[in-house]
Amino acid sequence: MGAPNEPGEGSASGPPPRRVAVRRRALARVWRVSETAARIGVLAVQGNVREHAATLRGLGAEVVEVRKPEQLEGLDGLVLPGGESTAIARLMRLYGLDEAIRRFHAPVLGTCAGMILLGRGGPLERVDVAVRRNAFGRQVASFEADLELEGDERPLRGVFIRAPRVEEAGPGVEVLAELDGEPVLLREGATIVASFHPELTDDTRVHERFLELVREETHVRA
Ligand code: GLN
Repeated sequence: MGAPNEPGEGSASGPPPRRVAVRRRALARVWRVSETAARIGVLAVQGNVREHAATLRGLGAEVVEVRKPEQLEGLDGLVLPGGESTAIARLMRLYGLDEAIRRFHAPVLGTCAGMILLGRGGPLERVDVAVRRNAFGRQVASFEADLELEGDERPLRGVFIRAPRVEEAGPGVEVLAELDGEPVLLREGATIVASFHPELTDDTRVHERFLELVREETHVRA
């Protein structure tokens, strides 16, 4: 003897499926209106620092440029930009940042050179991938291509600049995007690595995924 459905109330069994598709875009708004915007560090010793910072700010995050170990304190996540991995590694060591980042347990996003630093044998070694430097793209060192993004119909434009190639990935590594069957965006635990430069296009989906991961981890830790 349940109450009859009220006309115009919509279904009581949950939101319409369309909502799922717009959830990602809504994320930016969620961060912006929430009292505690995510605090994301961008390693700022060399490379594409500004572009990452601008994208993250556009998505509502508070950005801290990290040049000293103590600036990692209180961060909800960290981005390691592309640039020259040997230069970044040298400067990190000089400032004691390599050791501090190895102790940093919140989510990390590494792009291009950042991926090299986080891969097997790299100074930060957080993702079980064997990476070969400057090895992506047979004919040209730098190129653009549409990538297949896992769980998303829309292709993602990838900008590759003397990009690292993933030669092998361990069993705990999830592939999030591919180019011609090769992994170019991967995740292991709370770390995402990209062999391309998501900060150089207007498409913010990689950073959105990263902020989603940050939000999940922040809730777990809270
Ligand atoms: N080729 C660079 C390296 O080996 C990476 C290129 C980049 O980050 N765009 O470190």
